[in-house]
Amino acid sequence: MTPHDTVLIPGDGIGPEVAGAVRKVLDAADAPLTFHEHLAGVAALDAGLDVLPDATIEAIRKHGLALKGPCTTPVGEGFTSVNVQLRQKLELFAAVRPVRSLDGVKTRYDDVDLVIFRENTEGLYAGVENDIVPGVVTSMKIATDAASRRIAQRCFEYCRQRGRQKVTVFHKANIMKKSDGLFLRCVKDVHDDGFTDIAYETRIIDAGCMKLVQDPSQFDVLLMENFYGDVVSDLAAGLVGGLGVVPGANLGHDCAVFEAVHGSAPDIAGQSKANPLALLMSAVMMLNHLHETRGCAASHDAAERIKHAYNQALHDGQKTRDLGGDLNTDAFADAVIERL
Ligand code: ATP
Repeated sequence: MTPHDTVLIPGDGIGPEVAGAVRKVLDAADAPLTFHEHLAGVAALDAGLDVLPDATIEAIRKHGLALKGPCTTPVGEGFTSVNVQLRQKLELFAAVRPVRSLDGVKTRYDDVDLVIFRENTEGLYAGVENDIVPGVVTSMKIATDAASRRIAQRCFEYCRQRGRQKVTVFHKANIMKKSDGLFLRCVKDVHDDGFTDIAYETRIIDAGCMKLVQDPSQFDVLLMENFYGDVVSDLAAGLVGGLGVVPGANLGHDCAVFEAVHGSAPDIAGQSKANPLALLMSAVMMLNHLHETRGCAASHDAAERIKHAYNQALHDGQKTRDLGGDLNTDAFADAVIERL
């Protein structure tokens, strides 16, 4: 069995800590992966490279696969987000973020099972901002027919593959009549054209968020544009224990980059306090992706064993501080490895 060449981007802040812990677990589980480490973000700048080096992009294009730690984005100034650039350059148009309750992680609800589908390349995060005159700036929200249909198509296909029953679109088309209006029309067209077996509904995003915190069980798959998807992902993470437990996949036609929903968490970086589980769950998504797209049974086997091991660890009370436990980053990885 030939291992799959995979780009590993440790990232910034807690990135190298969680990436190191996840790599340990993947090695112990005999995951069929050969990692090629590449830099991005502040780590790349510190090494005298561009913030998103061409070599990193080219390596992902070549291997089609990456596991990525978070990259720091400066607030209110500085370079364009590496995460946004990467998604645009590689056309990773679909962010898929499963949000599920975990045994052993006590929260208000114990039956959350949602998937967030976020359009990843345009919307307000297109990053087109202009100074018009001193004191006046504009930020352009971009919505195209092609990108809206593309994300809708991928979302409904995903529902069909996974037996998901319902898609709810969060929008604000009452105010942003053109941009969100176009997004809504495109999703409805795609639904009506070929996916009428899947239920489809729409919610104005503010009311939708209220419903989401009141009763998440009424939702199944949530589909939305870029900015809304970013915010709602963190909100949904709060329903199941926080950012330490929500993984993600960024999918394109040719490449897939797997990364946790969380950022570089500078407040806890370098202290071995970070929960590596969100990135580990992202790695499990990557292994399952290898199974689905390349028919790799060994990947599926490793994914199942890792999933079982981290669920067992949580069940046994082996948790990092964000979940109320006292383990550090590596100790949690060791607890998972013991249970493989
Ligand atoms: P970004 O804008 O880059 O997405 P953010 O501003 O949303 O980042 P994060 O870096 O995700 O912020 O951190 C938000 C909070 O969640 C911080 O208090 C951080 O310590 C905590 N946090 C994030 N990830 C983890 C993790 N893996 N383990 C423990 N705590 C985490």
